[in-house]
Amino acid sequence: MKLILLGPPGAGKGTQAAQIVESFGIPQISTGDMLRAAVRAQTPMGLKAKEAMDAGALVTDAIVIGIVSERLQQEDCEKGFILDGFPRTLPQADALALTLSGLGKDLDAVVSLQVETTALVERLTGRRACRDCSRGFHVSFDPPAAEGICDSCGGELFQRGDDQEETIRNRMEVYHQQTAPLEDYYRQSGLLKVVDGMAPIAAVTQQVLDILKAI
Ligand code: AMP
Repeated sequence: MKLILLGPPGAGKGTQAAQIVESFGIPQISTGDMLRAAVRAQTPMGLKAKEAMDAGALVTDAIVIGIVSERLQQEDCEKGFILDGFPRTLPQADALALTLSGLGKDLDAVVSLQVETTALVERLTGRRACRDCSRGFHVSFDPPAAEGICDSCGGELFQRGDDQEETIRNRMEVYHQQTAPLEDYYRQSGLLKVVDGMAPIAAVTQQVLDILKAI
């Protein structure tokens, strides 16, 4: 299964990717997670990416295309993969097509999670994650048993810097201008599957798994 999860920030791409990882045993490739790891490790790439990420802007196509192309060649992607947060621009989509054709692979589906903007902002501002195991929570919809502490590992919960309201507005704007056109791009190639991302998490997962099992 070779899959793209498309949708605005807060649509639930990461949450759904985790479920698909479990069902299909294929890796989740999250460019956001890889870039955050590079920022934390202060690699040259991380240092270049940090400013754009803090502002809610996109990191350059060259950087993300490079990391995804390299990642797709690793052995665990043989059986398939879930791209989460990539592509985000038309040049990234073109570069992905080129990389995959070089590897003799084709995408199976592009699943687009549709969520209203007001719900996205509410989801993002309340989102928290564990510093140690990365488990996600939401202060209202999925709170931890003890405030600020991860139920799974006892690690400290934190709010991503780019989940502040001002930065969220930029990220939404960037999504509408640069990423939303990818829906038409993949609709034209017959790969686009639209899912109601406003439904409860388990119901969204069911919709996604039904689509993937039918492929
Ligand atoms: P995410 O975790 O997917 O919301 O990504 C967090 C941030 O990482 C984004 O706001 C961008 O600054 C950067 N980023 C992640 N994926 C990409 C991408 N495909 N292209 C450009 N920037 C990206």
